[in-house]
This record gives sequence, structure tokens and C-alpha cells, in this order.
Amino acid sequence: MGRVKDILQELMKEMEISENIRLKIVPMKKKIASLSLATNVLRFNRNVVKFLNDEEIRYILIHELIHLKIRDVNHGSLFLRELSKYYNPHETYHLEIEIIRKLSKLTS
Ligand SMILES: [Zn+2]
Repeated sequence: MGRVKDILQELMKEMEISENIRLKIVPMKKKIASLSLATNVLRFNRNVVKFLNDEEIRYILIHELIHLKIRDVNHGSLFLRELSKYYNPHETYHLEIEIIRKLSKLTS
């Protein structure tokens, strides 16, 4: 739990998020993480966390925190504009490829 929680707390400061978020590290079948906008519960897949480095965890958490910030579960232009404050498209592409590669090891 430690690493994800530490990175989450850092990011909440950086992104100026003052809402309470309850982090739950739980086994999940297909997703890496999910955030409920109704309850502010952020679930992070326990099965994947050990394969991820800090940069990948950071990327996943930024993704979820943007959903919280814009209060929208979609990945429309507002989402992409927020994401571009942290990563350029090249970085996004490579991080996603690597994360998906690690996730696919679990489900195959
Ligand atoms: Zn998303």
C-alpha cells in the first residue's frame, strides 16, 4: 500500500486537490485502477502494482485524479488538455504501451 499512497499524496498536493480520497488496493480482473466520482473511492489493482515502477503508478494516478478534478469519467478534450499539462503525447503513448503490456501478462 505504501508506494501508491505516497505517490497519491504527493500528486494531490501538486494538483491542488483537497477532497478526501479513499484509496483501496484491491484485486481487479481487467482494470488497473478506477475512481468513483460518487464516493471518491480510488481502487488500484493489487495484482498489477508490483509490476509497476513509480513513474507508471504516477501516470495512472494522474489519470484518475484528472477524472476527479474535471468530474467527468470520459476522455474528451477537457481530459486530454489536463493530461497534456503533465505528459506530452509521446510520453503518454510509451507509458500506456508499457502499462498495457504489464497488465496483459496478468490476464493471459
Ligand atoms: Zn480514464
